[in-house]
Amino acid sequence: MTDASLTLPVLPDSPAAFADAQWGDILPWYEALAGVPLDADSVGPWLAAWSRLEELITEAAALAMIAYTADTRDPAREAAHLRFSAEIFPQLEEHGVRLARRLLDSGYARPDLDVVLQRLRAQVDIFREESIPLFSELEELSARYQRMTGGITVEWEGQTRTLPQLLPFLKQPVRDVRERAFRAMGAPYIALRPELAELFDTMFERRQRIATQAGFADFQAYSFAAKCRFDYTPDDCTRFHDSVEAEVVPAIARIMERRRQDLGLDRLRPWDLDVDPAGRPALRPFGDVAELGEKASRVFHAVAPELGAEFDLMRGERLLDLESRAGKAPGGYCETLHFRGRPFIHMNAVGLLDDVNTLLHEAGHSFHAFASHRQPLLWQRYVGAESAELASMSMELLASPYLAEPGGLATPEELRLARVEHLEDVLITLAHVASVDAFQRWIYTSGEGGDARARDRAWLRCRARFQSGVDWSGLEDEQIARWYRQLHIFLYPFYYIEYGLAQLGALQVWRRSRSDQAGAVRDYREALALGSTVSLPAMYARAGAQFGADRALIRDLVRLVEDELARLRSA
Ligand SMILES: [Zn+2]
Repeated sequence: MTDASLTLPVLPDSPAAFADAQWGDILPWYEALAGVPLDADSVGPWLAAWSRLEELITEAAALAMIAYTADTRDPAREAAHLRFSAEIFPQLEEHGVRLARRLLDSGYARPDLDVVLQRLRAQVDIFREESIPLFSELEELSARYQRMTGGITVEWEGQTRTLPQLLPFLKQPVRDVRERAFRAMGAPYIALRPELAELFDTMFERRQRIATQAGFADFQAYSFAAKCRFDYTPDDCTRFHDSVEAEVVPAIARIMERRRQDLGLDRLRPWDLDVDPAGRPALRPFGDVAELGEKASRVFHAVAPELGAEFDLMRGERLLDLESRAGKAPGGYCETLHFRGRPFIHMNAVGLLDDVNTLLHEAGHSFHAFASHRQPLLWQRYVGAESAELASMSMELLASPYLAEPGGLATPEELRLARVEHLEDVLITLAHVASVDAFQRWIYTSGEGGDARARDRAWLRCRARFQSGVDWSGLEDEQIARWYRQLHIFLYPFYYIEYGLAQLGALQVWRRSRSDQAGAVRDYREALALGSTVSLPAMYARAGAQFGADRALIRDLVRLVEDELARLRSA
């Protein structure tokens, strides 16, 4: 051991040491790292110590966030989450940038750190101390959005229900029930619209200011740098929008026309999109979340024994919070506990097939966390969403053939219908992604994004461009309310195109699995294990996919999906 490495701080041995930490408790660790002389011998151990420190702190923060999203009504949990997200993280970033500068100045390089160093360089370049209070404020505004929307309940047939608990009613054969459920789900957001629009006005202003302070023309340009999108540009996103409009929207029109005929309606309304056209009741693939976990485990074991074992580990270590409850934050996510090397899944299951898809999706993220944990440094495991969503969306497709295993989540006939639903949904989602991304682009580059009414009108235009075959007349308020429900636009701006790019990758992984399931799953796992040690095109290539939004690629994949839909329908 060299002299320099002896001066490295001795770190706590558990994230519990930071559970109640204030920034003042954390600062000395960063100062200690900042004071270590860096030379050829010391820089490696120093980097490992810094990574270890961030594992400990980010895991403490992740545990606070998990506790908060499990019950957003508990003020103590909210305070703990905000202590990390609004007070500690901005400081952490500032001091992280300081250490990154030292690392970059040292000239240290390793092939498996090329992408990491490129990312750190980008962070250093865009960092502005004067923006820290703006980021803190944005965290508080985000918490306000979560509080406002997480607490939503509606009265439904004499019972108080969460919005996810109304989803089953959108699948009811009785059209009037579906319409009431659809309107009941839109109403809270229509009522909140003025308040949410005002909240967004503030977020918009703070974001544009952050961009300006960092020397960018607008928040879109800033976001491409901040999200380390080294492998594609805003123009590529525009190409994605145009290709989806040209290739996917006509396919959606064919799906909707077929649905309209099957339902025997003269026009499709938005509450007609989830019901089974043959009038069969909604699938109830599981009774409670224990059963969901049990059956999902069998599915993952069938995909690959290693994946099944990882999922079982999560069940055994109580790393799954699956059921919908009042006060629980909506949606689903997978968070990584980097010190333990374990993922955690949060979702809101109510007993539907959609919940199974959500679990397959989030489990794909968790398999990514397990696979990339073999990378020694934290930053080598931090992947962008394009890579993260490739993991999750591929798993939805790779696992679906196994849902009908004996004792599983569906009968073969149910599975056939579920796959039709899933593949139709893949195309509809590509168009939804294009509309959300085009909308965000408009918000941050049109010059009118700070005008609430202009925003709503722009949303309607984006929807008109990418929707087809559904009659929204008389439902303008509901249609506008839809974007206020799209939490990414509020909480994770510009996080959406990744779903589209990753879906295109996942379709290619699936295409290969149809002739070589074992090879496709093996390459999928090897691609995940790369973490962020290679570029996106290289990571996709390892998984057997081409990265990008090339129109010819999209045309081929739409044809693949439509062929498979035709095959499933005639089976
Ligand atoms: Zn995801």
